[in-house]
Amino acid sequence: RAKQAGKAQFARYSAELQTSARHQLELESALGQALERDEFVLHYQPIYRIDQDRPQLVGVEALLRWRQDGALVPPQEFIASLEESGEILRVGDWVLEQACRQVRAWQLAGQAQLRCSVNLSSRQLQQDDFVARLTEILQGSGLPPASLILEITESQLMQDCTATLITLRELASLGVRLALDDFGTGYSSLGYLKRFPLHILKVDRSFIDGAPQDAELGAISRAIIGLGHSLGLEVVAEGVEQAAHLDFLRQESCRLAQGYWFSRPCAANELERLFDQTIPPVNHASQSAHSKE
Ligand code: C2E
Ligand code: MG
Ligand code: MG
Ligand code: MG
Repeated sequence: RAKQAGKAQFARYSAELQTSARHQLELESALGQALERDEFVLHYQPIYRIDQDRPQLVGVEALLRWRQDGALVPPQEFIASLEESGEILRVGDWVLEQACRQVRAWQLAGQAQLRCSVNLSSRQLQQDDFVARLTEILQGSGLPPASLILEITESQLMQDCTATLITLRELASLGVRLALDDFGTGYSSLGYLKRFPLHILKVDRSFIDGAPQDAELGAISRAIIGLGHSLGLEVVAEGVEQAAHLDFLRQESCRLAQGYWFSRPCAANELERLFDQTIPPVNHASQSAHSKE
């Protein structure tokens, strides 16, 4: 009886496995055609300066979405697949080109100081001709290199140190700025902060989220912000969802922030509406719930 139950369970399990394997295959083949079918779209999340009376929109982070059957698929569900198939190289170029062109258009339309952040996969950085291709993309779009921020994570830095280091140095000498994304969540080696030519630290939202209530998370966030500043880096806080987060960050002299409290990532035309929107003075942050979905 136990044996039979075990068999039935195994059958169910292997059926589930097959379904998920089939699902995976379908996903991959659909993904392979997504670029040609024009199914990718970039959303943009604004980044604000918060060290003055009123928060000021100073940049946007481009975030990839996949339009499929009327729904928008979030990147966690397909980036790994793109990386595995190598398709991330073509898609990554598309993201860079699209984002640079869009932000250049916004600069010319009056947002002269707007900066453009783009997330990179390590596969992209490992290409021999990445710097050459990026240079072409920048020239094609007209975006000044200093307006572009490339975001990479700690785990990506770990993968192939020497080659990555050389590429990052070339990028930095182009004038492009480099941000260490999700800082504190990877195998943080503080040595990276010295070894790699970084300009910006992005404090992971898991720290920010608990910082106002949890003394330890508060201490960690404070230490990361201080560390960044002592090293001459800009510090951006991720995942600002509540007025209390913003109050905490202002107290800790963190200069830049992004999160749902300001705005969710949104389509380009919706983002444009934020250009003329006045954010209430931060001292009054606690009284204003701000972000609508
Ligand atoms: P990330 O670069 O750390 O981007 C921030 C993520 O946090 C975004 O998720 C954003 O929607 C979310 N977020 C922003 N503010 C808040 C907040 O206040 N609360 C919460 N709970 N979440 C917030 P998204 O768009 O789903 O992207 C997830 C990750 O996918 C990104 O994390 C990035 O690592 C990766 N990704 C996105 N676009 C690209 C791309 O074009 N290329 C590559 N290689 N990776 C990308
Ligand atoms: Mg990012
Ligand atoms: Mg991040
Ligand atoms: Mg993150």
